[in-house]
Amino acid sequence: MKTYCLKHNLEFDLTRSVPDMAALFAYYPADEAEVVLRVEYINEAFIAILEKEGLVWKSAPVICEAPVSGEVSRSVKLAVLDAFTQMTGQSVELPWGILTGVRPGKLAHKIVDAGTSFAILPSYLQNKYLLPEEQARLLTNICKLQKQLVPDEKKEAGIYIGIPFCPSKCSYCSFPSGIVPKDEESQQNFLNFIEQDIKNVVKLLGVHSLNVTSLYIGGGTPTSLSEGAFTRLLQMAADNLLLPSIREFTVEAGRPDCFTQGKLDAMEAVGVNRISVNPQTFHDKTLKLIGRAHTIEDFYRAYEMTAKSKIPVINTDLIIGLPGESEEDIAFSLQKAAELKPHNLTVHTLTLKRDSALFGSQIGLPAESAARMVRKGQEVAAEMGMHPYYLYRQHYMLGHLANIGYALPGTESIYNVQMMEERHTVIGIGPSSATKLPHADGHHISRLSMPKNIFTYTSNIQQLGEKRRLLFEE
Ligand code: SF4
Repeated sequence: MKTYCLKHNLEFDLTRSVPDMAALFAYYPADEAEVVLRVEYINEAFIAILEKEGLVWKSAPVICEAPVSGEVSRSVKLAVLDAFTQMTGQSVELPWGILTGVRPGKLAHKIVDAGTSFAILPSYLQNKYLLPEEQARLLTNICKLQKQLVPDEKKEAGIYIGIPFCPSKCSYCSFPSGIVPKDEESQQNFLNFIEQDIKNVVKLLGVHSLNVTSLYIGGGTPTSLSEGAFTRLLQMAADNLLLPSIREFTVEAGRPDCFTQGKLDAMEAVGVNRISVNPQTFHDKTLKLIGRAHTIEDFYRAYEMTAKSKIPVINTDLIIGLPGESEEDIAFSLQKAAELKPHNLTVHTLTLKRDSALFGSQIGLPAESAARMVRKGQEVAAEMGMHPYYLYRQHYMLGHLANIGYALPGTESIYNVQMMEERHTVIGIGPSSATKLPHADGHHISRLSMPKNIFTYTSNIQQLGEKRRLLFEE
């Protein structure tokens, strides 16, 4: 492993910006290393200097327009990138410029809020953050659309209920979901705690008048519960949280192997108006390889049932980069998904986090192929009449690309916008859910994460409710 040792005596926080850029060249921080990196701040500009075996490489000075964290991070990154490029003689691919965070959309909103017009935003992102033109335009269009979908001034809020169970564990998955307990009693016992959590939120809503516009039941796979338990969950959500202000009620029914007509009827009965049914791929061999205990035939069956129901918006997810899949395989899946004419299509790029069974394995699809397939996803979605309306990135993502959500105009998920852009309040119920409260500046949030461990969650349900209440008092 190649290492460098960082030396500076600045008061600025460089703990993210420097390692993020060095990692692009496969250099990692160490206390002692033959490569020494110095970062200096002179005349309101950052300079990065690399020294190795008596040789020195010095970046051009990068003006820091204000000594605030975002601007310091931007200018330090540019200086470090320049120094490493000189030392290695390597010009790295930057599909998202120097943006390394999970939510590039937040930056776009921040820049627009500070007075930059949408006409200028693409060139601003290109010049200041080295975004390729294509991504700068994509981000600009998404930001513009989001401001219409969920206007900042209306201060909308979303509620999320997380059910951490699935019928089996997919090998690429890092979500803290477990296999659903087989016995009805265990499922119902778990729902007793979800009910308490819901009641705590109802009390909160009684005190703080929030403009709640979306309700989302996700996980995990909520439909992995038995028909009885799932119907009870829906009823609890509808009775307590389906406020008149809500305009979107989504259920994640991702896994066709636990999808039944009875569960679909229950969703219709309580007014669910958006549903996700996900194949991830249209190849049985891949489904087998990744541990999803269903076939493409099962997916078609679930999809057709849903298409015949009264639920007006269907989302379907695909993943680029699944094990053993070539560009042709992925293009085939995109085409098959398009033939079904869903209202929303979410195209993910494979991310193998530490908690996934496949972490560390070489899955085979080169980053350039993945990038081509992301572009193919954009083309297919455009041919379907869809536009991109949210995106996010993840650490360990194949080719440092992005997950992009597309929708036919008028069917965009407002919850996805609220949750991803962190500009609106989101209240989380259930293990691993997060409650996020945006500050008045619109760019920072207060956050409470529920424990991932189900036992820790259920054992502390009242204390966790109290913590959430206090978060709203801050
Ligand atoms: S269905 Fe989704 S949450 Fe469940 S194991 Fe598979 S990827 Fe993970």
